[in-house]
Amino acid sequence: MARDTTDTLGAGTDTATPGEGDVVSNESLANLLREERRFAPPADLAAAANVKAEAYEQAKADRLGFWAEQARRLTWATEPTETLDWSNPPFAKWFADGELNVAYNCVDRHVEAGNGGRVAIHFEGEPGDSRAITYAELKDEVSRAANALLELGVRKGDRVAVYLPMIPEAVFAMLACARIGAAHSVVFGGFSADAIAARIADADAKVVITSDGGYRRGKPSALKPAVDDAVARFDTVEHVVVVRRTGQDIAWNDRDVWWHEVTGRQSAEHTPEAFDAEHPLFILYTSGTTGKPKGILHTSGGYLTQASYTHHAVFDLKPETDVYWCTADIGWVTGHSYIVYGPLSNGATQVLYEGTPDTPHQGRFWEIVQKYGVSLLYTAPTAIRTFMKWGDDIPAKFDLSSLRVLGSVGEPINPEAWMWYRENIGKGKCPIVDTWWQTETGAMMIAPLPGVTHTKPGSAQRALPGISATVVDDEGHEVPDGGGGYLVLTEPWPSMLRTIWGDDQRFLDTYWSRYEGKYFAGDGAKKDDDGDIWLLGRVDDVMLVSGHNISTTEVESALVSHPSVAEAAVVGAADETTGQAIVAFVILRGTAAESDDLVAQLRNHVGSALGPIAKPKRVLPVAELPKTRSGKIMRRLLRDIAENRELGDVSTLTDSSVMDLIQTKLPSAS
Ligand code: ATP
Ligand code: MG
Repeated sequence: MARDTTDTLGAGTDTATPGEGDVVSNESLANLLREERRFAPPADLAAAANVKAEAYEQAKADRLGFWAEQARRLTWATEPTETLDWSNPPFAKWFADGELNVAYNCVDRHVEAGNGGRVAIHFEGEPGDSRAITYAELKDEVSRAANALLELGVRKGDRVAVYLPMIPEAVFAMLACARIGAAHSVVFGGFSADAIAARIADADAKVVITSDGGYRRGKPSALKPAVDDAVARFDTVEHVVVVRRTGQDIAWNDRDVWWHEVTGRQSAEHTPEAFDAEHPLFILYTSGTTGKPKGILHTSGGYLTQASYTHHAVFDLKPETDVYWCTADIGWVTGHSYIVYGPLSNGATQVLYEGTPDTPHQGRFWEIVQKYGVSLLYTAPTAIRTFMKWGDDIPAKFDLSSLRVLGSVGEPINPEAWMWYRENIGKGKCPIVDTWWQTETGAMMIAPLPGVTHTKPGSAQRALPGISATVVDDEGHEVPDGGGGYLVLTEPWPSMLRTIWGDDQRFLDTYWSRYEGKYFAGDGAKKDDDGDIWLLGRVDDVMLVSGHNISTTEVESALVSHPSVAEAAVVGAADETTGQAIVAFVILRGTAAESDDLVAQLRNHVGSALGPIAKPKRVLPVAELPKTRSGKIMRRLLRDIAENRELGDVSTLTDSSVMDLIQTKLPSAS
């Protein structure tokens, strides 16, 4: 099988816009799934909620005034007098005449307010080591790291690549960059040397921060060799800073410096400089679920305003009493906005966990919730489906009574996974906030408010206050309630991407050319009869069966609602009679045995849940599904298999041996 690991960023074809004829038809997405369950917010949470229903009205009456008010959550060196400059759309400027330092907002101001003794980070290493870092300590660590970067020659406007495991130094490094005005480009720890090299080249990074290794699945795993391999290809990388985490043997090169040495000799005093609100904060490459990653540029003031506000509103964070935990990796946008910038700007106490959910046992997450009294938990549907597969008895062994709000992000959450999360983790009392957003949007866009929204399993529901989202048809007309089509954002928002790094044209083509004046998100969606939004998966993944657009998400949700199925991925494969035929790859639950009878049952189950048109032509039990490092199913690779094609870009796949396994399972897939 051909394996294309060349990750030529920016040069590739863009797949956010659907390919020729394969997914776009004049028919709207079939509106198949019916979900009638509703859950009101708990009365005590609603009464004390940070954000109440009035926020929607207020933002609707004066959207820019609303965001100007949210910007005052931050501490500005120069208060902005302008809110939005949209004179050259889609290139937005927010709060353009304001100046601030993002790291000061995330660290120093909490110490100055007398909260230096509050724990910012409860670090939990995979082997069981732990460390509590207060805001005062965080200030010292970030200041030393900022001074170290300055000593190494990093200056305002430079780029620094960060390739680290989930350890506190990752947070220190990102904030140190922000503090001195250098943009960070975080690369998932575990990506290949090619992927690191592509990102170093694309952003022209001057310094790389990495570690000897990290702990994964009970063993030290090396990180530095991949960096050495990548960095050897450039003479532009001046230094590699190496955090000692595992103590394993590593090769040492002239440009390498130890983190503990270079930061250890620095002063813990560093005076943050104020930068323009539009100063670049970071570049982050998208997950690569649909194609080649795009280098998304985010800037400072607008980004931090929305990251901070949404974290406060959607998690109802009470910084004095809550313990927050986001299980995402820092290499994903969720780690940027909801581990680093949102929670820290709000003065939260949070857990940072290095490892995997099943090390040393499958109850590790719940043990951590119990140990730290986690009250706000943010995780992904892929994790929830894995916990379902492992069984209800595992979380049942731990005390989860501290939890009060549960979040989900990354993919549409199947209604059955949502219900499982609500019952087995939230014990029926925690609102679930299903948050839709993207690397490009920088922060949450569509999500329930936990003290306001009557939630529906599987729906992200409604644009947050100050955000304008809707669903349109092929011609760009808004669909009525009950209709389906494509998700668009109709007004600029503070944390919007400013461009694709170094490629304004690709920015215009990918997001702004499909519909005049609207941001095209690349996701299919429908509105229900109440006008609530349901995400239906990628536009690239939508199937066209006998002239009907059918959502992969809905067919997958129907499969996951069968007691034998833990996870499902569905693709449309070319078919002579129906245009495309539905092919489903399913992971069975622990107790279910693979048989022709079960396959027939599953096909019928979907047929009766959604109608005969959605009945899969083939259902194939598999052991694993191809996923990105952020846990998203890569359907395009399954489609390549189902249509007997060479695999496309696999550079962001967690484990490429999965594809070999699936292929051996499928001697003649189509
Ligand atoms: P690429 O753009 O390179 O293909 P990606 O889209 O997976 O990668 P991200 O920015 O990490 O990269 O993911 C954003 C996408 O994740 C959204 O466009 C959407 O498809 C999906 N998504 C995220 N949260 C949700 C959610 N709550 N419900 C439904 N889909 C979601
Ligand atoms: Mg995307």
